[in-house]
Amino acid sequence: MAHHGPIPLLFETGKSGRARRYVAPMGDAAAELPSEVLRTRLPLPEHSELDVVRHFTRLSQRTFGIDTNFYPLGSCTMKYNPRVNDTLANLPGFRELHPYTPDRYAQGALLVMERLERALSSLFGMAAFTLNPAAGAHGELTALLIARAAFAARGEGEQRTTVIVPDTAHGTNPASAAMLGYRVVSLPSNERGRVSLAALREIVGPTTAVCMMTNPNTLGLFEDEIRAIADTVHAAGGLMYYDGANANALMGNARPGEMGFDLMHLNLHKTFSIPHGGGGAGAGPVGVAASLVPYLPTPVVERTTDGLRLAFDRPQSIGPMRSFWSNFAHMVRALAYVEANGIEGLTRVSQLAVLNANYLRVLLRDVLEVPYDEPCRHEFVASAQRLKKEHGVRALDLAKALLDRGYHAPTMYFPLLVPECLMIEPTETESKETLDAFVEAFCEVIALAQRDPQRLFDAPECTVVGRVDETKAAREPDLRWRER
Ligand SMILES: *Cc1c(COP(=O)(O)O)cnc(C)c1O
Repeated sequence: MAHHGPIPLLFETGKSGRARRYVAPMGDAAAELPSEVLRTRLPLPEHSELDVVRHFTRLSQRTFGIDTNFYPLGSCTMKYNPRVNDTLANLPGFRELHPYTPDRYAQGALLVMERLERALSSLFGMAAFTLNPAAGAHGELTALLIARAAFAARGEGEQRTTVIVPDTAHGTNPASAAMLGYRVVSLPSNERGRVSLAALREIVGPTTAVCMMTNPNTLGLFEDEIRAIADTVHAAGGLMYYDGANANALMGNARPGEMGFDLMHLNLHKTFSIPHGGGGAGAGPVGVAASLVPYLPTPVVERTTDGLRLAFDRPQSIGPMRSFWSNFAHMVRALAYVEANGIEGLTRVSQLAVLNANYLRVLLRDVLEVPYDEPCRHEFVASAQRLKKEHGVRALDLAKALLDRGYHAPTMYFPLLVPECLMIEPTETESKETLDAFVEAFCEVIALAQRDPQRLFDAPECTVVGRVDETKAAREPDLRWRER
């Protein structure tokens, strides 16, 4: 049975004397602790175990995720996470490994890191990867620090002050550059939804440090002039950075190293099937061309005559970006994914991701505008501009109505280039039946928008929480419980 309305907190429902212990407490713990760390009052709620089990089970039933529903959130690659990856990450030898274990006793874990690093390097055409960064944005920051160190070594540290970012870029790109004090220059797209080479030639120059690009870009389109773009930036002495957060169209089909990129990051928690969302642990490895290897963060895994070791003695390194080995369990999951698929399997993953996106694009273009309507890669962008003009229904309203039908909303209002946009990424792990059912639900929502728009303004009606005030939720989040 579904339970509607908010579930009260355990703090709000406890009753004194309710907690029953099955196991008697061991001695007087307080006597063992220094008095200055003891609290005189600790208002914890008292419950029976059964009430607590029910509370958390109900909460878990309200979770909306890839394990329960289709989640076509563009630029996020919400694909199925094979359970065997978790089983392997939970092997006691991996799970219980202490971060201070001497290299000699951690050879298996170091081998995981070395094999993953080698696999990513060959898949994406880079000389080496660091597995240090803990998220995509953290990878961007790492890569820009590497670029900055390389310019400083060339004596151009003062001169290279700008970072070029296309207007379709993910928001983290300009944010990462600004965080390091770079001036961000926006690069306009052309009428084909791609970087304008003519505009780039006007912008690029002796102050250019890095040009950050996404390819396929966030419209799902392949930048077919990428070699000319890279040549232009290189001729000015700048470096090319590849935002590979969404590499699901690329694996086995194209390599950023061959497109002229010097640096890149990957999101293992998108392309490499690691569970993500809710701000959980991520992994954003950074790949570099040969000339940038000396600047990689420490530690790096090194092969010696005595086996593998973590090397910290690297004088040109930008230093550690994360404590210890970073999110090691994710490295196990990603390696499991790479080895289970093999290069043929990963190539097929990418091809199916592209096929599924195009299947949806062609079915949905009958009911929604698709502004750049040509074969896309792993995702595409549709627009509700016509519906807004004719019926006052926005992309947001369509997204809310999809929730009522059991689908997570597509990404909305990104990229900024397309008004009232919805960015749809089905991934390769969905069946044709799921995609067909999604199209049917989408068509139903659009028919409703034309017939009775008010129903959409009130959506969602069937979810636990109805329409929320999005601005208030973003500007004044109140997530803390306070004792009354
Ligand atoms: C998700 C994403 C990022 C940021 O990755 P995080 O792990 O969320 O920091 C950067 N660029 C693109 C294109 C993305 O889709």
